[in-house]
Amino acid sequence: MNQQSIAFDIVARDGEARTGVLRTRRSVIETPVFMPVGTLGTVKGTRFEFLETELDARIILGNTYHLWLRPGAETVRECGGLHRFIGWERALLTDSGGFQVWSLGALRKISEEGTKFRSHVDGSPRFLSPEVSMEVQAALGADIVMAFDECAPGQATHEEARESMELTARWAARSRARFDALQEEGMDSGRLEPRDGLSGRQALFGIVQGASHLDLRRESLQRTVEIGFDGYAIGGLSVGEEKSVMYSVIEEIAPQMPLAQPRYLMGVGTPEDLIEAVARGIDMFDCVLPTRNGRTGQAFTTRGKINIKNAKYARDTRPLDAACPCSVCQRHTRAYLRHLYLTGEMLGGILLTHHNLACFLDTMRRVRQAIRSGDFTRFRREFLAQLTSDSE
Ligand SMILES: [Zn+2]
Repeated sequence: MNQQSIAFDIVARDGEARTGVLRTRRSVIETPVFMPVGTLGTVKGTRFEFLETELDARIILGNTYHLWLRPGAETVRECGGLHRFIGWERALLTDSGGFQVWSLGALRKISEEGTKFRSHVDGSPRFLSPEVSMEVQAALGADIVMAFDECAPGQATHEEARESMELTARWAARSRARFDALQEEGMDSGRLEPRDGLSGRQALFGIVQGASHLDLRRESLQRTVEIGFDGYAIGGLSVGEEKSVMYSVIEEIAPQMPLAQPRYLMGVGTPEDLIEAVARGIDMFDCVLPTRNGRTGQAFTTRGKINIKNAKYARDTRPLDAACPCSVCQRHTRAYLRHLYLTGEMLGGILLTHHNLACFLDTMRRVRQAIRSGDFTRFRREFLAQLTSDSE
């Protein structure tokens, strides 16, 4: 079996920015791509029909930690895997659970073997390790699976970050070994027959750590590439470090990542972060911002952010963003969206979420087009200038 689980072809480059086509066993994904986050098997506040049609999201995320606790990996397996369980036939990526466990802070205890923690749902003791994470992710059956890593805080000292990075490297090798064994044992519940040169198996991505220390980041990349993965991610950013630090890590590491494989920046960020990371060579993104902020009354627009609860929108009959092609902006006014938000109508969060996802996905479409036409530098400059222009 030497067929690959994914195939990645770069179509055009402009500086470090690149646009390409990522074929997974379930969907063809144009990159750079934004992946909406479906924490508990739902992209909160939207329906799969909208994700498939108007928004045309080709890949979404599921969170291993959350789905493992509820409804449980074996429940999902018995329901035919995550695709069948949630009713989504396009591509899925699951994270390893490492970041969520790390976010529990004092509730967790890390050892060489793995991480002991208490469930945030019922307080029960749990243990997550590279092996358990691979087993859960095989039961979920996502098309792309992430290695189990350890995240150091943004301000970690060199010594702390080194320990964490070395543990991540050892865990990456254990993730790889268990993942390969599970594929051989046929434990992947999302498996398909080989087709179009793809093996029908899951793909496994490795994660580069090392906090803000560039020498550790470089070493982490080298050690991760030595193990060998289908794609590579930069983890442990947007965790409390300065934005300039985040950009400098991406600028240093992304161009050194294997040229022919997808590069994924985990958990980042705002539209301007996406553009800046694309300019430094990143292909894939995920972030909860469009959905989470949609539920709290914040809209992203091409002219900056709008807090819909603001009194100045009470009689504002303009759409959220005159430049946005989404169905919410075609039909509804800021005044109406503000009314929905203030009265606690659930439609308010639904409509803002829809617009925000449209804004992120449409931005990435424009990014791809700009790279293809060799016009990305100008696009980036104009996009960033417009974001701070404030139309109001
Ligand atoms: Zn819109």
